[in-house]
Amino acid sequence: MDNGNNDNAPRGLTCPRCGRGHFFTTNSEPLPNGRIRRRKRCPSCGRIIVAYEVEIESFSAA
Ligand SMILES: [Zn+2]
Repeated sequence: MDNGNNDNAPRGLTCPRCGRGHFFTTNSEPLPNGRIRRRKRCPSCGRIIVAYEVEIESFSAA
């Protein structure tokens, strides 16, 4: 919903191949160590990357 404004600001990851920043998350899977593995796909060039994310709560669990 923008009125002619540029929306080129990359959000999060940027595709290493085509430089765009809008990945689709195609798969997300929690790992036993509290992380989440996400598979993301670039809608422009089809490049697939895998990102690991850590839940905030797991940091305070000492
Ligand atoms: Zn791409």
